Amino acid sequence: MVPVTADDTTVVLPGCDRPLYQQFQRLLLDLDGVVILVDEPIPAAAETLQRVRAAGVSLRFVTNNASRPPVAVADLLTRSGVSAEPSEVVTSAMAAAALLAGRHPAGARVLVVGGEGVYTALSDSGLSPVTHAEENPVAVMQGFAPEVDWPMLAEAAIALRAGADWVATNTDRTLPSPRGPLPGNGSLVAALTTATGREPESVGKPAAALYDAALSGTDTRHALAVGDRLETDIAGAKKAGVRSLLVLSGVSGVRDLLMAEVMARPDFIGRDLRALDLPHPAAVRVGEEGRCQAARVWARPGGIELSDAGTGGEDGLDRLRALCALAWSHPLELSSDAYDGVINELDLD
Ligand SMILES: [Mg+2]
Repeated sequence: MVPVTADDTTVVLPGCDRPLYQQFQRLLLDLDGVVILVDEPIPAAAETLQRVRAAGVSLRFVTNNASRPPVAVADLLTRSGVSAEPSEVVTSAMAAAALLAGRHPAGARVLVVGGEGVYTALSDSGLSPVTHAEENPVAVMQGFAPEVDWPMLAEAAIALRAGADWVATNTDRTLPSPRGPLPGNGSLVAALTTATGREPESVGKPAAALYDAALSGTDTRHALAVGDRLETDIAGAKKAGVRSLLVLSGVSGVRDLLMAEVMARPDFIGRDLRALDLPHPAAVRVGEEGRCQAARVWARPGGIELSDAGTGGEDGLDRLRALCALAWSHPLELSSDAYDGVINELDLD
């Protein structure tokens, strides 16, 4: 619900008058596009996170990628220049294993379609990873690893036909690589869905279970999710009841943000992780006008108009915030074309 104040001002982005991280006790950070890009650190990410950690805010690196155990993820981050402890890593494999451990007795056999990340998560949760359907597994756990092959899928198909529970770490269709998007866990899940007519339960973002696992011991009100993808990171945060910051250093861009469905709209926006260190001005809509500090945008019959004012501010994003205020709460449905001119004018790339 967008709150409407007495004078017909609709508050669309809530604002925060001190450095954003000071409002929270835990950050739930996506990795690729937020902290690192493949294996390179994103500028200023390491220093910003070090400062936040030193101020007493706990960090959780929350990843849909199930191929690596926490030790390997922490190692990858640390080698990329962002120091991280294994205890700060929460993977979709851990969340999937926790779900199965809550449902089946200790030592229950679970068939693995995946690699080291899945094996480690199952063992750490007190379950017994197995590789053959003849071992009568109670469940199949499926998470991406480069070594997933046809024999693994065949064993899983047999177990699933026999009625085994099926949990997927995530259903991302692709995963990023230096050569562009490659088949992800969702593509391999689709092979088994085609073969068996069944659908798995998925725990990774945009489902809430992964964030729930990363929240353990912290109230949702005191946590902030930080992500670069609206449809996974931000939508997952909304489902988990956690506020969110979208950073523009990864996949989702300005047009995606303006066109975002209600369930994928963040509370705060920033260029990159430096946004944690800044106050965030609120953005409101008043009639046909979006406002954020001095920035104004108007819905006109011929399209959208931006004020010249408001290009400054802490991060130069006030006009974008004002535009979000208009786009997300204006009674007229604005089409994607309506934004062409203003996106160029914002000049954020
Ligand atoms: Mg990402």
